[in-house]
Amino acid sequence: MPNMSPKKVNMPEQEPDIRNKNFLEVALGYTPEMAQEEAQRCLQCKNKPCVAGCPVNVQIPEFIELVANGQFEKAYEKITETNSLPAICGRVCPQETQCEKLCIRGIKNEPVGIGRLERFVADWFIQNSKPNSKDIQKNGIKVAVIGSGPAGLTCAGDLANMGYDVTIFEAFHTPGGVLMYGIPEFRLPKALVQKEIDNLKHLGVKIRTNMVIGKVLSLEELEQEGYKAIFIGTGAGLPNFMGIPGENLNGVYSSNEFLTRINLMKAYLFPQYGTPVKVGKNVAVVGGGNVAMDAARSAKRLGAENVYIIYRRSEKELPARLEEIHHAKEEGIIFKLLTNPTKIIGTDDGWVKGMECVEMELGEPDSSGRRRPVVKKGSEHVVDVNTVIIAIGQSPNPLIKSTTKGLDTHDWGGIIVEEATGATSKEGVYAGGDTVTGAATVILAMGAGKTAANAIDEYLKKTL
Ligand SMILES: Cc1cc2nc3c(=O)[nH]c(=O)nc-3n(C[C@H](O)[C@H](O)[C@H](O)COP(=O)(O)OP(=O)(O)OC[C@H]3O[C@@H](n4cnc5c(N)ncnc54)[C@H](O)[C@@H]3O)c2cc1C
Ligand code: SF4
Repeated sequence: MPNMSPKKVNMPEQEPDIRNKNFLEVALGYTPEMAQEEAQRCLQCKNKPCVAGCPVNVQIPEFIELVANGQFEKAYEKITETNSLPAICGRVCPQETQCEKLCIRGIKNEPVGIGRLERFVADWFIQNSKPNSKDIQKNGIKVAVIGSGPAGLTCAGDLANMGYDVTIFEAFHTPGGVLMYGIPEFRLPKALVQKEIDNLKHLGVKIRTNMVIGKVLSLEELEQEGYKAIFIGTGAGLPNFMGIPGENLNGVYSSNEFLTRINLMKAYLFPQYGTPVKVGKNVAVVGGGNVAMDAARSAKRLGAENVYIIYRRSEKELPARLEEIHHAKEEGIIFKLLTNPTKIIGTDDGWVKGMECVEMELGEPDSSGRRRPVVKKGSEHVVDVNTVIIAIGQSPNPLIKSTTKGLDTHDWGGIIVEEATGATSKEGVYAGGDTVTGAATVILAMGAGKTAANAIDEYLKKTL
């Protein structure tokens, strides 16, 4: 008999007033007993609607049944048939718009906590298993992967498992992409990402850091070095700005710079790490996505008294995950919705002292289907802030495009690929993840890395 409780088994969390002063993980994970109780809420539907919502086709009811029976290692094997980074996906995937959105239990009550169960299984495996020393038949064929975010890591892992001699070229001094430099420690502990990277090294993948491809080496030079195929997974790390007066004042950050300095350079561990980030008493974060929530919650943890999310539409249109919005509110982040900045005001010596804003109201739907915000007449006002973080989106960096002949891109900068394979306009060169789609999700980047790995394998089998 399934567990017919209308609600998910509660996930233990740090208390809001404690966690908003530290960078430790917010959600603490299920115990085996909690996981088994939650797994028993699954009805084992014959037509598996939840699976259709998973971009990498995880066999959800099968793994959940194994959890319900206490067969955690087998559950891990089931998940990793199609998802190579379950500890990460269990934490950051937007399950509420994917698998859990289609869960039958969600029609009347809360859906099964698929993400929570995936996270439990992955964490259990990390704590209880020994590294797999499977014997891979090496074929000696060299493949280069540019970028070490989820797209590059997945592509590299799959190709290494097929026997290829894979080298990842990463611009930063630490691999992991947004998983390391963007998403904060309190949502995704970096030790978990490092564990996945170590697993790749264990498979024989070489990682060369501080290698900005397009500057240190071109794609042509990689080909001359004997790489028979190349995967580009360079993400979308170029921050967008609003183009309003005052964006060049001291105290204005792009979310990218702000979060990178915190995550990668460990600004929150100052003075142990000598790279602090200065946040004022009052901080405005412009934007309403996951990146904005991460920046706001990080600013609070760095000691800001008042942190505002400034967003020009209403709560309904906020693009961030519901869980992130809920957590941000619990931690004391103040939401100034239907508000749009028009100017950042500075002191005589060039530091932020306020932000001029207007109130908005929602008009007719625009081309995205969302109601267009229009300015309310006479609503100009000044918000008293000393730090402004701009989190209104990122675009692909143009460096590789501008240094590679014959690589076709869209006007907005994304690399053009054949959807089914990830093949670009340049023979032997494949691409996937945010550099193709624009800023998207971890699981979609992983899916693209997987697709490209299979296509590269077919291409090399045909041409060599
Ligand atoms: C703050 C933040 C929070 C997010 N939260 C979520 C979330 O909760 N859930 C979710 O699903 N998604 C989230 N996302 C989006 C998600 O992280 C991205 O969609 C995903 O990481 C894209 O993966 P990728 O491999 O394409 O690129 P990235 O992760 O961006 O990795 C690209 C890598 O390529 C490297 N690189 C760039 N140019 C070069 C070059 N020329 N040479 C060598 N290396 C290069 C970069 O340094 C980087 O390491 C978030 C993003 C951000 C920024
Ligand atoms: S839709 Fe929900 S209840 Fe049905 S199999 Fe999937 S997880 Fe279980």
